Amino acid sequence: MNPSLEPMDEQTARRDLITVCHLMYERSYVVSSDGNVSVRLDDGRILATPTMTCKGRMTDDLIAVTDIDGNKLNERKASSELAMHLLIYRERPDVKAVCHAHPPHGTAFAVAGLAIDQPILSEVILTLGCVPLASYGTPSTDELTQQMQPLVKHHNALLMANHGAVAYGSDLWRAWVYTSRGEGRDGTMCGTRSRRRR
Ligand SMILES: [Zn+2]
Repeated sequence: MNPSLEPMDEQTARRDLITVCHLMYERSYVVSSDGNVSVRLDDGRILATPTMTCKGRMTDDLIAVTDIDGNKLNERKASSELAMHLLIYRERPDVKAVCHAHPPHGTAFAVAGLAIDQPILSEVILTLGCVPLASYGTPSTDELTQQMQPLVKHHNALLMANHGAVAYGSDLWRAWVYTSRGEGRDGTMCGTRSRRRR
C-alpha cells in the first residue's frame, strides 16, 4: 500500500477501491454489508461499492458504475447510501473519493450525539481538523443529505448522528487516511474520557 496523490487511471482506482474495502473490513470499521466506498474518475463517472455486499469480499466484478446523478452505467446496483457520496461530489469539486463506515469509536460518539471538536492530538489537528456532527437523518434518504449539506464544504470528515462516519479527499488514500486517523483519535478520546471519570 503506497498512498499517492497522483491522478489514477480506472484500473488503479478499481484496485485501490477494493483494497480500501478490505482494510475497512479487517479493521472492523464495517460489519456485514455496512459501509460504502466510491471514487470519482476524471471523466466524471463514479465507481461505487454495490448494495448488500460484505466489504471483506469485495471484487472488481462487483463494482457499480454510475453518473453524478446516480444513474446506472453498468449492471451492478450501487449502495443505497450513494446519495451521500453524490452530495459530497457536487458540493466539493476537489473531492475524488469518499469512504463511509461505522467505525466503533466514531460511531459511539455519533450515537452519543457528540462532535469531535477538541484539539487533542497534533497530527490530527494538522491533517483532519474537527469533525462536526450532522443531525440525525434516516440513512439513504434526503433527510440525511439535507443534514450533511451545510457541513460538507467546510470539513473533510463528518459524524452522522446515530449512524456512523464519512470522510473524503482528493484521492482514495487521502479519504482512507482521514477515516483511519479520525477513528484513531476517537479511540483516544474514548480512553481519555473514561480515565477522567475515575
Ligand atoms: Zn451507513
